[in-house]
Amino acid sequence: METALDIQGLHVRYGPIRAVQGIDLIVPKGGITALLGANGAGKTTTVMAIAGALPVVSGAVSLFGKDMTGAKPDAIVRAGVAISPEGRRVFAQLTVEENLLLAGSILGDEKLSAKRLAEMKERFPILGERRRQMAGLLSGGEQQMLAVGRALMSGPRLLLLDEPSLGLAPQVVDQIFDIVEELKADGISVLLVEQNAALALDIADHAVVLANGAVAAAGAPSELANDAVLQSAYLAA
Ligand code: ATP
Repeated sequence: METALDIQGLHVRYGPIRAVQGIDLIVPKGGITALLGANGAGKTTTVMAIAGALPVVSGAVSLFGKDMTGAKPDAIVRAGVAISPEGRRVFAQLTVEENLLLAGSILGDEKLSAKRLAEMKERFPILGERRRQMAGLLSGGEQQMLAVGRALMSGPRLLLLDEPSLGLAPQVVDQIFDIVEELKADGISVLLVEQNAALALDIADHAVVLANGAVAAAGAPSELANDAVLQSAYLAA
């Protein structure tokens, strides 16, 4: 199987704290992998290591068939990876448009950045309507769309999406998940970190459950969703 992301035996530490201890993980090319598990299981640490923001102690990270273990964040971006971080982290004092253009500045190509900005307004009409509004004044769902839009400005082939549904009303969560499915339809591979296991399993092609920095289970979403032990131990929302 062709993979967008293939991680083998990943270890990541914060000083003496072994946050991720030998996990394997794949995102099929053009597919969605759900990365699940309780608070503190190691999901965000894994995402930050993939993005090159945390050092890989050991193990291997391949992107689209190319070994990228230990690569710096800018090289990871050039390899086609973008991150929408946990907590959204939009620049509250900047407008919607300024947030997007700032992300676009990484392209070093104003024309391409303007083209992507227009694409984002099309993909997220509400962001187009609110383009001159300060990001801090947007609703949680709109901020999440902005966080995804910002990640998409670099034209990624793989999106790392950390907890997009956190703190959002169910109806808004549905909208966000529709967007994730649209991204897949557009050929973008997605690593979807989620607390909301049921919804994530619903749209994923592959799923991995972490517990205490290790893989507790991995496989087809339908199998994981129907596993009673797994459900009660790790996936209860
Ligand atoms: P959450 O949903 O709460 O973000 P998570 O599955 O993403 O959970 P991580 O944030 O990756 O989990 O945390 C994994 C482990 O690493 C936890 O034990 C956590 O306490 C620890 N940890 C996370 N960030 C740091 C840090 N900056 N310094 C030290 N330990 C950390």
